[in-house]
Parts: sequence; C-alpha cells; structure tokens
Amino acid sequence: MAYIEFDRVCKLYPPATRALDNMSFTVEKGELCVIVGHSGAGKTTLLNILGGMDTATSGHVRLDGREITGLGGRALTEYRRNDVGFVFQFYNLVQNLTARENVELAAQICHDPIPAAEALEAVGLGHRLDNFPAQLSGGEQQMLAMGRALMSKPRIVLMDEPSMGLSPIFVEEIFNIIKEISAEGTTVLLVEQNAKKALSIADRAYVLETGKIVLEGNAKDLLNDESIKKAYLGE
Ligand code: ADP
Repeated sequence: MAYIEFDRVCKLYPPATRALDNMSFTVEKGELCVIVGHSGAGKTTLLNILGGMDTATSGHVRLDGREITGLGGRALTEYRRNDVGFVFQFYNLVQNLTARENVELAAQICHDPIPAAEALEAVGLGHRLDNFPAQLSGGEQQMLAMGRALMSKPRIVLMDEPSMGLSPIFVEEIFNIIKEISAEGTTVLLVEQNAKKALSIADRAYVLETGKIVLEGNAKDLLNDESIKKAYLGE
C-alpha cells in the first residue's frame, strides 16, 4: 500500500471545468515528489484536495491507508492541523507578530509541536526570532513559512510554488531546505515553476496536463526527457 494514494479523483467546477480528470497516482513514504505542469493544469487543486482544503467531486484520496475524502468537521480540522504542513506562494504570515510568535500561533492548535525556536533554527532563522515579517526579506519570510509548516511534525508537507518571486540566492536556499526536509524522512509534494531545479532535487515526478497525469517517472530521468525539456525546461 502506498503512503499517498489518489484513486480516480475528479474535481469538477461547473459548468464544464475538469480541474482533475480521473486522476490516479501514488507517492511512497519519504519521497520528494514534484508536480510539473503549466498554469491551469490542476496542480493547486491537487494539493488543496490532499491538504483537506478542498474536496474531490468523486474518487478516493488516502494517506497511510486512511481515507481523506470522507472526512468532515472535527476530523478534517485535526487532519489539516496535525498531518499536513502547507507552504504557500505568498507566505500567509501575521504581520504584527514576530517570527517566533507566528510559529507559536500555529503551534497552539497542534497536538505535539516542536518549540518555535527549534523550528526556526531548522530553516536558518535562529537569529531572526524577534523580527517582524516586514523586517525580513521575501526569502526569509518564505523560510519562516517553512518553519511554521514543519512545527507540527506533519506527515506530509505540501508546497505550492515556494520559490515564486524570490531572488536567486533565496531560491537556492529554499531548495536546499526542501532537500533537508526530505532527507529527514518527511514526505514532500512540491509544485514549482522552476521545473529544472525541482526535478534536480526530487525523487519522483508527475507531469500534469488539463487535470490528467501525462507522464511520470524518476525525476532525474525526466530532466533528460526531450519532450519535458521542450515543454517545461525551455531547452
Ligand atoms: P494550476 O495550479 O496548475 O495553475 P489550478 O488547480 O489552479 O491549476 O486550476 C485547474 C483548473 O481549475 C483551471 O482551469 C482553473 O481555472 C480551474 N479552477 C481552479 N479553481 C477554480 C474555482 N474555484 N472555480 C472555477 N474554476 C476553478
């Protein structure tokens, strides 16, 4: 049994958008999996459904054998809080709280959080605990969002374009931290515009087009795939 399992998942937006079209795929525990696809392919919809922030129209989603699709109310809230870490494009930080307080705020709703300072050390922000988001660069704010996502020791970490809008030095750092998170055994699903970089650090890759998986395989192999190079790597 795979750790993450999408089994014939559809997501329809009336009147006629099939954001996910009978999608089936699996991710093994501890894998760093990258989802590649052009805008509108269904990447965010996939992450949101797996993260319990949106619901599938039909099909089944399972994490470690547990059906996510039918969860509601308290069970769904607990799932989002304790099992999933989410890193968005635009950090979603509380501006009038310090870095430490932003992490502590999220920690209040988890079962067994790691200390805020430790979570922030892990993403290289140990010296920025008392700074407000506005005092941090875009890259540091994204690191803070990563620290916050890790604090609940989630089973899976979902990242939606974490390097978007960051300067190259922080892009490099973000990818290093993603590698470290993965090396520690966390299962990561990563959606990235920077497909070349993402494929170079990932184990496994899925290529999405209009809600369907059109190609899958070892991420490093896909880096050398001619159709991928042309369509997604600008080569
Ligand atoms: P991606 O993340 O790959 O850019 P999305 O998952 O955001 O793609 O969107 C997949 C498709 O679903 C797109 O055609 C998009 O327009 C559509 N879509 C996404 N969210 C909604 C929504 N709330 N209502 C209607 N259509 C939506």
